[in-house]
Amino acid sequence: MKQLEGQVAIISGGARGIGEGICKVFCEAGATVALWDVLDQGAATAEAIEADGGSIFFQKVDVTSADSVNSAVAEIIEKYGRIDILINNAGIIRDRSFMKMSLQEWNLVMNVNVNSLFVTAKAVLPHMKAAGYGRIVSASSVNAEAGAFGQTNYSASKAAIQGFTRSLCKEVGRYGITVNCVAPGFIETEMTASIPDHIIAAGIKMIPVARIGTPEDMGNAYLFLASKGAGFISGTTLHANGGAYPS
Ligand code: NAD
Repeated sequence: MKQLEGQVAIISGGARGIGEGICKVFCEAGATVALWDVLDQGAATAEAIEADGGSIFFQKVDVTSADSVNSAVAEIIEKYGRIDILINNAGIIRDRSFMKMSLQEWNLVMNVNVNSLFVTAKAVLPHMKAAGYGRIVSASSVNAEAGAFGQTNYSASKAAIQGFTRSLCKEVGRYGITVNCVAPGFIETEMTASIPDHIIAAGIKMIPVARIGTPEDMGNAYLFLASKGAGFISGTTLHANGGAYPS
């Protein structure tokens, strides 16, 4: 039997990048996946994974909107009667040095990266509690702890996700629900595509495994924390960065 056979997983921000990698790995592990994204591209991503044998469907969801999230959750419950896994992967950057950063750039990043967790966790937790089982895994970042020039908004948002995780795990553990984070390092996606080649090459020199990470690498990190076997691991952050941090 496959690791996630019979389980239903929501993966936000699944249209591309790391989210797409998580969708592929979870489908290969036997889960039925609800791919959430604001991009219509999510439909084509889901179709391609389905063509490879995955059980996956696209829902156009904005994770900052309670109406959008609640109606998608209601549809899943009506069709499948369960939600075992919530992966909060959707996230954005609006990089700018702090002196030049606008309040709008600050608020936008906080809203998508942090406030969305309030919305999505609120929507799925009653179902997980009723089932006595759940796995919530959210996207932090190496820069939550390491910091990065031009990312005061992003680093603060990714650190907030770790604090949210450590507190929520204390409230819901008794219902069989674990809450964790993955902190990706340097991963090849659209988010990092604008970085010049020489900076990528310099970055790789700092990574002990001597390569940039892939969306599938991240999919495997999420799979571990989302699996039944990880039931004694909660409130933690899994650093997935090829050994670059902390060291
Ligand atoms: P990406 O930009 O390629 O993909 C993010 C996805 O989230 C996109 O498909 C986007 O449409 C979706 N999204 C954005 N706002 C949304 C909203 N309001 N509702 C629903 N979907 C929304 O990014 P990525 O590189 O794949 O990163 C995925 C996650 O991993 C992010 O949270 C990011 O902060 C984190 N992360 C990435 C890296 C990296 O090196 N790429 C490193 C550390 C952490």
